[in-house]
Amino acid sequence: MKLNNENLELLPQRLVKPSYDRRQVRQGIVHIGVGGFHRAHQAIYTEQLLNQGGAREWGICGVGLRAEDRAMRDALASQDYLYTLYELGDGADTQIQVVGSIGDFLLAEEGQEALIARLADPATRIVSLTITEGGYCTDDSSGEFLSELPEIRHDLEYPKKPTTVFGFLTEALARRRDAGVGPFTVMSCDNLPHNGRVARNALLGFAALRDRALHDWIADHVSFPNSMVDRITPMTSQTHRAQLQAETGVEDAWPVVAEPFIQWVLEDKFCNGRPAWEEVGVQFTDDVSPYEEMKIGLLNGSHQALAYLGALLGHQYAHETMQDTQLREYVRAYMDRDVTPLLAAVPSIDLEQYKDTLIERFSNTGICDQISRIGYDGSSRLPKFVIPTLLGQIEAGAPLQRIALIFAAWCQYQQGVDENGNAFQVGDPRVELVRQATRPGTDQVERVLALDLVFGRQIPASQAFVDAFRLQLERLQTLGVRKTLELTMADCV
Ligand code: NAD
Repeated sequence: MKLNNENLELLPQRLVKPSYDRRQVRQGIVHIGVGGFHRAHQAIYTEQLLNQGGAREWGICGVGLRAEDRAMRDALASQDYLYTLYELGDGADTQIQVVGSIGDFLLAEEGQEALIARLADPATRIVSLTITEGGYCTDDSSGEFLSELPEIRHDLEYPKKPTTVFGFLTEALARRRDAGVGPFTVMSCDNLPHNGRVARNALLGFAALRDRALHDWIADHVSFPNSMVDRITPMTSQTHRAQLQAETGVEDAWPVVAEPFIQWVLEDKFCNGRPAWEEVGVQFTDDVSPYEEMKIGLLNGSHQALAYLGALLGHQYAHETMQDTQLREYVRAYMDRDVTPLLAAVPSIDLEQYKDTLIERFSNTGICDQISRIGYDGSSRLPKFVIPTLLGQIEAGAPLQRIALIFAAWCQYQQGVDENGNAFQVGDPRVELVRQATRPGTDQVERVLALDLVFGRQIPASQAFVDAFRLQLERLQTLGVRKTLELTMADCV
């Protein structure tokens, strides 16, 4: 049965469905980047509030800035913006839920003016973002806004015809200021250390180039809460779609699949109100740093380790890497000995238990989380997920072979062939640049480490790291992954 408003009543009883009148909901949130994660996380917390009878002014209007967002918009529009959250796990704690919190969807390419007007409308009080780790146009090592990018130059030249997040937000905020309308909160939900701060620096970096007074107004009025967001959300595959339809009879053009686990820790810095998300399990705190350092270092850092080594061994899914004893032990050792010693105490969290849960979550055979997804865009992800740990280790004089293996594996992964000789697709928005730097050759190590965007300036200056990286790359190339893992586990006890 096709998913839409009309058929809601007819859907099987076991599905959780919107229990509120969708026509009564106004959209106070505009979300840019409606991929899988937003639909499995923020939209679900909001849906829970709506189901409890609250949040009537906090529905969500989705926004796509890229041509590729048309497919999602069309899929959702064809079913009144409803979609199914399909939880999959190895236990019994999963549910299937039809979600109604997204009520509209605008595409930038169908009209920049309509989108700017929506953002400038006083009814819009929060603009949230999941535009990926690479979407913030920021140099990771210096924190500087990359003002020379062609798309940024374009948006500065044509402020009324923007293409980037920063162009749209700045023009909308200019109109709000001029009209005496208050600001909106900019809430980044991307996996970045200090995501609110990064979003703020980027937006202010852009605004400063456009108009100093506007920059100052934004700096004084707009708030940018930091947040730690967590829920493993794979790409929806054809198998997932078919499985959902076979199980429920629901025809959903684009369901979202996720693990049962969900977590959101958020700073309470909202300049224009917010939903009462604390009523549905969101944890508000004054300082997100210890939570995000724990989560990004342990979860996202380990994901990088298992993606590149796993792909080289011919694995396709995260759970296969956890069934591989050698990889599981390596990843746990990375968590325990490399990341954990650098973490501050995290209020109300037992780190040992947290790591056990991570291994369990990575082992989830139900969701079939793709290694290709986890390994995507390593040139943006390594600097956020692994470099902070590496910098801490260099400073502490810790052994570096284990962490260096992640970078060596990433390098080897760029060749796009596993150890059984099977080719796989390497995904990175900067694929040409990365491929040039990582292609084999006598000066490979120097070329790789000269990739500023990944390593910055500090890392290549550490002789200990350069040596460990060279050793691990050489081992991978001459001895293969299994022998390298064996030697690495013996090196760093
Ligand atoms: P996705 O590929 O399903 O969606 C990505 C969305 O971002 C798309 O709408 C795309 O158009 C948009 N986008 C990409 N680059 C952009 C740019 N430069 N400007 C504007 N929009 C841009 O991915 P997803 O699974 O939804 O993940 C998105 C982000 O959410 C991740 O990069 C991560 O930071 C965060 N996140 C994801 C997960 C997860 O498990 N998938 C977990 C925690 C956090």
